Amino acid sequence: MPTTGEKPGAGVYTCTKCGQTVVLDDDTDTLPPCPRCNNTEFS
Ligand SMILES: [Zn+2]
Repeated sequence: MPTTGEKPGAGVYTCTKCGQTVVLDDDTDTLPPCPRCNNTEFS
């Protein structure tokens, strides 16, 4: 399960708390905290 601060690779990640999606365009992008609820775990 990817968490904030990791570089899980390009793709779409869904917040495990609120369902907000975060899109990473590049393999070198770092996963940010959820922009809606500040959660740090994504699926
Ligand atoms: Zn969230």
